[in-house]
This record gives sequence, structure tokens and C-alpha cells, in this order.
Amino acid sequence: MDIATTGDADASMGTADQADEPLVALRRVNKHFGALHVLQDIELEVRRGEVVVVIGPSGSGKSTLCRAINRLETIDHGEITVDGLPLPAEGRALARLRADVGMVFQSFNLFAHKSVLDNVTLGPRKVRGLSKPAAEKEAMALLTRVGVDSQARKLPAQLSGGQQQRVAIARALAMHPKVMLFDEPTSALDPEMVNEVLDVMVGLAKEGMTMIVVTHEMGFARKAADRVVFMADGQIVEEATPDEFFTNPRTERAQDFLSKIL
Ligand code: ADP
Ligand code: MG
Repeated sequence: MDIATTGDADASMGTADQADEPLVALRRVNKHFGALHVLQDIELEVRRGEVVVVIGPSGSGKSTLCRAINRLETIDHGEITVDGLPLPAEGRALARLRADVGMVFQSFNLFAHKSVLDNVTLGPRKVRGLSKPAAEKEAMALLTRVGVDSQARKLPAQLSGGQQQRVAIARALAMHPKVMLFDEPTSALDPEMVNEVLDVMVGLAKEGMTMIVVTHEMGFARKAADRVVFMADGQIVEEATPDEFFTNPRTERAQDFLSKIL
């Protein structure tokens, strides 16, 4: 199955202008939690096929940024568009547009009382309207692709953390998203399971999936990222290629951050 080209197929149906537009665009996005200005004039464009790694200290607003792009969080000012369309506030239009944005969380978030297979087929059956056999056929292909097809009939708790996170990736891909958001997908994993998840992500990146990845895994950033975005205190402080960023961070804040994690 060719997941990575889904977005391109859509683009080819539009005009050349649309294909040149960023797939995800944030313009002057602002968000407060009470007195806390958690997102401050965020400007970010992600092109089709681009892999953007977001790094920064804890509390800098990275998760809020991801949640805002998926509209799990509202914003106060500014605009967020996915494939040229602003995210609607609610209703069926939101459900449809949200399907364009796959999200993988730190804590897997699988449905505990449903089998692995049901976890992956639920969304496609409900939102994409697939029949059970069609959804299961596609789900098995995705589970094979992330290497957990032998676990399809089990419950999530019977799987290792690394396996659960790979199921979560398959579940997100089953919606045929145009962009995948990953919010620290390996932070909750035992160290020996980190690479099995990162390998799946590197594979997706190589196939052309558009990805926004919050992670402190610098190996992944170097291998897969087109661009690194460094956030601190609700602002994008620095943007650069991985090579530029890791060898020659321009700001003192980035230098300080890197000295602590490298
Ligand atoms: P990061 O992912 O970079 O660690 P977050 O986006 O999770 O940062 O959080 C940024 C700041 O916003 C933190 O200070 C956090 O405590 C605060 N915050 C996050 N979610 C909420 C919320 N729902 N209500 C109030 N404050 C929040
Ligand atoms: Mg976070």
C-alpha cells in the first residue's frame, strides 16, 4: 500500500498553485492558558513531503502547538490551515479535516478494551465508511508494515510499549492522513524499544510522508529531518537544517539547550 503518495494524489487534482502551497500553515498563532502566553505569534509552514522536527525545553509549548494543529486545542488569534483550509470549529467538517492530520501521542492512547485490529479499523469504518472486511484488509497491511501483524487479535496491554506505539502509528495511517504529528512518541518507551518506533518513522519520512515530530531524539532529527524548529517559552526561537542547528546553533538559548541534552 502506498500511503505516502496520498497527499500527492490530492495535490495533483488541484491546480499547480495549490501544489506549491504549504500543506500546513500557522500564521500569527497565539494561545493563552490564563495568564500564560503559551503560543506567541507562531509562524510555521510545512511543505508537502517535508519532515520538521520540533525541539525545545519542557513547557515551551510544543504539545500545545501539535494539539492546536489537530484542533484538540483552540487558539485565541491567528490562523491554522491544513491543505489550504482553516480547521472548522466543530461538527462533521471538523471530523473530516481532522482525519487529514494523524496524531501519535507519547502515551499510545489505544483503546484498552479493543483488539489491536479493532483499534486500527474503527476510524476507517466510522469516518471513511469502509466495510469491515475492507477495513481489516487494509489494517492488516498496515500492521504488517509496522511489524505487529502477529499481534492483531491481542489487546493493547498484551503488547510491549514499542509494539503499542507501532499500532498507534498504524491506526493513524489508516485514516490516510495528509500529515502526521508525533508528540514525543518514544519518550515513554524503555530504551531498547525506541529504535523499533523510530525506524518506522524514518521509513515513513523516506516515503515522502509530511511529518511534524516533537522529539529529543537527535539521531532521528539528523537522519530524517529537513528542518529543525527550536521552541522556547512559546516562541519559535530558531529554525535551521539539522546540520546547521546541531553544529552551529545561533542563539544562546539553543546552545544552552543543546549543551544539556547532547
Ligand atoms: P511542552 O510540550 O513543550 O512541554 P506544553 O505545550 O505541554 O509544553 O505546555 C506549555 C505550557 O502550557 C506549560 O507551562 C504547561 O503547564 C501549560 N499548559 C499546557 N496545557 C495546559 C492546560 N490545559 N491548562 C493550563 N496550562 C496548560
Ligand atoms: Mg509536550
